Amino acid sequence: MTSVQTYQRPSSIEEAWRLLNEGGKSAKLVGGGVDVALFAPPEIIMLIDLADLPNRSIEMRDGELVMGAGVTLTELLESPLTAGYLDGIVATMLRQVASPLLRNAASVGGALASTHPWSDVITLFLALGARVTQYAGRLQTVLLDELLEGRGIIDRAIITEVILPVPADRTYVSFEKFVRTGFDVGMLNCACRLTMGDDGCEDVRIVFGGTPDIGHRLEAVENAVNEERLDQAAIESAAVLASEVIPARDDVRASADYRRVLAAVGIRRCFTRIAQRAGE
Ligand SMILES: Cc1cc2nc3c(=O)[nH]c(=O)nc-3n(C[C@H](O)[C@H](O)[C@H](O)COP(=O)(O)OP(=O)(O)OC[C@H]3O[C@@H](n4cnc5c(N)ncnc54)[C@H](O)[C@@H]3O)c2cc1C
Repeated sequence: MTSVQTYQRPSSIEEAWRLLNEGGKSAKLVGGGVDVALFAPPEIIMLIDLADLPNRSIEMRDGELVMGAGVTLTELLESPLTAGYLDGIVATMLRQVASPLLRNAASVGGALASTHPWSDVITLFLALGARVTQYAGRLQTVLLDELLEGRGIIDRAIITEVILPVPADRTYVSFEKFVRTGFDVGMLNCACRLTMGDDGCEDVRIVFGGTPDIGHRLEAVENAVNEERLDQAAIESAAVLASEVIPARDDVRASADYRRVLAAVGIRRCFTRIAQRAGE
């Protein structure tokens, strides 16, 4: 941080974009500043603080939960609108992110743009089918899945808002995180979302993060659960399949073998909770 010479606080997205382009590789956007303060590389000489942009609202828009990129994780966690969205799953996840002090500073935009492989926010938002609006000379809204596939682009555009779609009737979501201590980042996290149809599960989305790679869908398990009833046998075979197909690797937090065991536990817990809520 000692290399920083200029601190800008633009009041419009256009101005922020102009500064970002002028600064090029030596400029960095600041959301809550949690990561920037810790990891800003030495070539950064200009910080562009987004705190004065009008991006702090949380609202329901045609049934979708829409949050500005500047909303802090605490504001999102405490919002009554968040509590009303899919049994408050976003708040359930956020309570497990970092510590209250860090959540008071960290922003929604920063939580996505930092693309931490163990991010709980990214894992859950992928399972929910989140869309992200970015400004890069013009506004554009894309699926979070697509944004992460093009990793890198996310760093040169300005995230303005995040949209969680209207859930179909009888849609259920569950999130599970495995940590050594309460404030630690996870050894693995998992989010499952499905709609309970008349003939079985529909639109199943299963995401694992911290594998140790960033949140990624396990399509083989999704396909195995789609159109099945969520009974004990289906949950068990999904758990076994997840432990086989998860792209687990060793790192400092956990071994690949341990992650495979956790993957099965994550699926069992998430789907058991969903089955109980759905009365299956
Ligand atoms: C000790 C610790 C524990 C943590 N534990 C967890 C955890 O358990 N689970 C979890 O999910 N996360 C965890 N985190 C990560 C934390 O959630 C992120 O550090 C935080 O969300 C970053 O948000 P920020 O607003 O402070 O980002 P910043 O530090 O402001 O920015 C981070 C990056 O995003 C870019 N950026 C910021 N805003 C925007 C925007 N609007 N558009 C485009 N780019 C932008 C910045 O240029 C920078 O590259 C932890 C972090 C720490 C330090």
